[in-house]
Amino acid sequence: MHPSSPGVPSIGVVVLQPTPFCNINCTYCYLPQRNVRTQMRQDTVRTLFAKIFASRWRGEELTVIWHAGEPLVLPVSFYARAFAAIEALRPAELHLQHAIQTNGMLLTREWCDLFRAWRVGVGVSIDGPRRLNDEHRLSRKGGSTFDRTLAGIRLLREERVPFHVISVLTERSLEAPREMLEFYLAEGIEDVCFNVEESEGDHRSGLFAAADVQRRFRSFLAEFWKLSRQSGRIRFIREIDGMLPRIFRPEDPGLRNVQVEPFAMLNVDCQGNVSSFSPELLGLRNAAYADFIIGNIETDSLEDMRNSAAMLSMSRDIAAGVERCRRSCEYFSVCGGGAPVNKLTENGSFVSDRTAFCRLTQMVPTDLILEALERMEHDLNNDDLARAYGQLIPHAARSLRGGSGEDGDRNPRGEA
Ligand code: SF4
Repeated sequence: MHPSSPGVPSIGVVVLQPTPFCNINCTYCYLPQRNVRTQMRQDTVRTLFAKIFASRWRGEELTVIWHAGEPLVLPVSFYARAFAAIEALRPAELHLQHAIQTNGMLLTREWCDLFRAWRVGVGVSIDGPRRLNDEHRLSRKGGSTFDRTLAGIRLLREERVPFHVISVLTERSLEAPREMLEFYLAEGIEDVCFNVEESEGDHRSGLFAAADVQRRFRSFLAEFWKLSRQSGRIRFIREIDGMLPRIFRPEDPGLRNVQVEPFAMLNVDCQGNVSSFSPELLGLRNAAYADFIIGNIETDSLEDMRNSAAMLSMSRDIAAGVERCRRSCEYFSVCGGGAPVNKLTENGSFVSDRTAFCRLTQMVPTDLILEALERMEHDLNNDDLARAYGQLIPHAARSLRGGSGEDGDRNPRGEA
């Protein structure tokens, strides 16, 4: 997935906003255009993928994420046509995976058929049991969204469509790891991701600004991890299981952060406007970077976009921010320089390093995993340890048994 040659972009993820419209109105939503009903045209989809596939900038794998607004407000037929058009253009050797992020309220059996037919990765947003979900995830009339989202989740299970959930953690849910777990277990939810309510765009999170948010998230995650492992019924916690391969990667020392690499992530709105880097930048206003728009897929070539003033200035400043991270941060080897949108929102500049977001998403999980390993190293003899690591990730066990001196990779903080 790395660029095939130095300086040549490598497009790994395309985030498409088929419509900015959302059928609900979460209090923490940062999307400024969630009342706008514009739809992406099929021609825009075809033009976009024809240009990507014809370019030298595609890697061997491409993830296509349909997101931003509620994608299921468009009919099933929109995606059936779009997926077929992309498939007709796809080079045979390219592995392409579709993913969709939804609030689940509009799910029907027809959607499930589509997801199964195209092997679409499905993520459902729900913030836990009713009392926690309905704190912020509200209908347009200010009512509960819980029953309809839960009905969608139950339908996915009934139809055997694999899915994960993303839950935003707020003041109250941070105090309730057991209650969150009991909800997931009761609903047969096995794959979970957490986002702490953050400041993005115009939304300012009081929680993010709180002095003790890091301690509280750490306490939540540690307890949730412990209880979920004891239950044996949670298969994947993104903040832990997604971080493990980034810490244990003796056979692949390079870490890719698609949010800081020009064109690694291509974000396209319903009118064909293109941005890169963090997907949340698309739709935000900013005079210094031309609202983060590097061109329009209908009228501009990828090369034009690469040479646009917005792309050149963003690339320069984001790279300078990554360099600051590289020089100053002991977590750089598992993070790769963070999320530009959070640097800009929290610090006022891409040319910056630490954010509350990176403390929560990178530092806290890394610390918890390393501390767990230290406890294991202390408690186990070498054979037991190799077996235990083997359960975490096979590469780690190989490197331990082979004594290949990969300690630097096991310890992103570079501690002895
Ligand atoms: S953890 Fe934060 S400071 Fe460290 S590399 Fe990542 S974004 Fe930069």
